[in-house]
Amino acid sequence: MRVAVTGATGRMGKTVLSVARERGLDVAFAVNRDAEGEHVEGVPVRPSVEFEALLDEERPDAVVDFTGPEATVAYAGACATDGVPLVTGTTGFSEADVAALEEAGTETPVLVGANFSRGVQALLDAVESAVGDLPEYDVELTETHHNGKRDAPSGTAKVLLDRVEGTREDASERVHGREGEAPREAGEVGVHARRAGDITGEHEVLLAGNHEALELTHRAGSRSVFAEGALDAAAWLAEQPADYYRFETIASQL
Ligand code: NAD
Repeated sequence: MRVAVTGATGRMGKTVLSVARERGLDVAFAVNRDAEGEHVEGVPVRPSVEFEALLDEERPDAVVDFTGPEATVAYAGACATDGVPLVTGTTGFSEADVAALEEAGTETPVLVGANFSRGVQALLDAVESAVGDLPEYDVELTETHHNGKRDAPSGTAKVLLDRVEGTREDASERVHGREGEAPREAGEVGVHARRAGDITGEHEVLLAGNHEALELTHRAGSRSVFAEGALDAAAWLAEQPADYYRFETIASQL
């Protein structure tokens, strides 16, 4: 498989290039916004304004993208034009961004994943099961990330919250932090985002009631778990027809 990597000098882009090298994959090209002649894992990083021209020229089997919503939507448009599959781990999309990615998915395979780790996929299933088994217990979610993370709550937190709300009929609203007079209402789901140091990513779902508490926690120890999952997804996506795919619905096929 020949992959192209965007955001190549970012935290995840560098990790994707490192795992690609470990796997012996060909890297068709790598881009980043302010690239100025640097190399990552021996791969020259080109300015991202050259993305469309490089895509036309190199025709990789898939593009692996970890950047920001604006960049991802632009890359998806170029991938749609050229029929190149796009895997993106970017988070923080608006509804309009998602609509643009779905539109690109009508022309080429597009896969979005808020979290490419296998452990988080298992956490999603465990949370669904626990929330279903403990319907009257209070649910609170806490996520913790490094101090450079831009969006809050994390994309993974949103997927976990979707799963809670899809399982629990009485889920009323997401309450982001609490301050002052803030009694807990029945059915609300508390959401707490912590930003500190270089923590890769932690998600904890707490269920409490009836004199007991259950905590379901995932901790990522290295960004390589996300890069491994994204490259597995890219290999899968390269064989699929044009559509808009979500990682959590296809992860069990990898
Ligand atoms: P980062 O800030 O270290 O890297 C992002 C890179 O994208 C930077 O090099 C930046 O220059 C580039 N970029 C941003 N906006 C751009 C634009 N408009 N045009 C061109 N280049 C642009 O961030 P990171 O920690 O690597 O995370 C990147 C994204 O991936 C975030 O949305 C993050 O939440 C997400 N993420 C997802 C997973 C997952 O498993 N899906 C895991 C970790 C991070």
